Amino acid sequence: MHDELSDIFSRHGIEEVAASDDADIIASIGGDGEFLQSVRKNNFRDDCVYLGIAVDDANYFYADFHYHDITTLEEAIDQDNLDMRNYPLLEVSINDNKPSYCLNEFTLRSSIVKTIKMDVYINDFLFEQFNGDGILVATPTGSTGYNKSLGGSVIDPLIHAMQVTELASVNNNTHRTLGTSFLLNKERPLTLLIDKNLDYYPIMSLDNEAISVRNTEKVEVSISDKLVKTLKLKDNTFWHKAQRNFL
Ligand code: NAP
Repeated sequence: MHDELSDIFSRHGIEEVAASDDADIIASIGGDGEFLQSVRKNNFRDDCVYLGIAVDDANYFYADFHYHDITTLEEAIDQDNLDMRNYPLLEVSINDNKPSYCLNEFTLRSSIVKTIKMDVYINDFLFEQFNGDGILVATPTGSTGYNKSLGGSVIDPLIHAMQVTELASVNNNTHRTLGTSFLLNKERPLTLLIDKNLDYYPIMSLDNEAISVRNTEKVEVSISDKLVKTLKLKDNTFWHKAQRNFL
C-alpha cells in the first residue's frame, strides 16, 4: 500500500522524503485515531498540510480520502479541486509547564473513586466550583467525539471556540454548576484550580494520549494561535461529514 501511494503521489510531482520533519504534506493511513497520532507525533507542526487516508470504507472526520478510492484524490489534485481547512487547537499548560496541544479534546478526571473538586475560572473570574467526575474541553472538530457522547453540541470548525463539558457533575443544594456545556472564545482562557484537600491523582488526556502528572494543581486551557491545516475536497464540508456519520 505504501509503495502504491508513493507511486501515485510521485506521478503528481509529490516526492516522498525520509523524515516527516522535512515534509510539506504529512499523510496518515487509517482512521481518525491515526490522524490524531500523526499530528501529535509531528508536534502539531503548523507549517505543513496533513492528509488523512482511510483504509476501509467507514466514514471519518479527519481521514477525508479513502485508499480504495484513491482516484478521487488524484482527480482532485489534477483538477485543482482541493481546498485547505484550518482546524483550531487547544493549548494546555499544567502547573505552569510548557504547553501541550490537542486537536480533539482535553479531559481531566479523578483516578480515585471520589468526585473531584475544582475551581473553574474564566479569565480571572471564579465562575463555578465543580464537584463531579471531571471536565472535558473540546475543539470544534473534537466536538463530534467524546464531547458529543456527553451531550455537548456539535460546533462548526469555522467558529474558533472551545467547548467546556461536564462529566457527571454533582448538582444539589450544596454543589452547583452550570450543568450545560458552554463555549469560550480565544480571549477567554479557562483555568482549573484543583482542590488540594485530597489527592485525586487526576488523570488527564490529550486526544488519544493519557498523561498523569503528580501534584496537579493548576491547568490552563486556551485556544492556540497554531492551526492544523488539512486538505479537503471542495464539496466535502464538516457538515457533509456530520450528515454522513450521524444522520
Ligand atoms: P478509540 O477509543 O479507539 O476510538 C474512539 C472513536 O472515536 C473512534 O471511532 C474514532 O474514530 C472516533 N473519533 C476520534 N476522533 C473523532 C472526532 N473528532 N469525531 C468523531 N469521532 C471521532 O480512540 P481513537 O480512535 O484513538 O480516538 C480518540 C478519541 O476517541 C478521543 O479524542 C475522543 O474524542 C474519543 N473518545 C470517545 C469516547 C466516548 O465517546 N465515550 C471516550 C473516549 C474517547 P476512528 O474509528 O476513526 O479512530
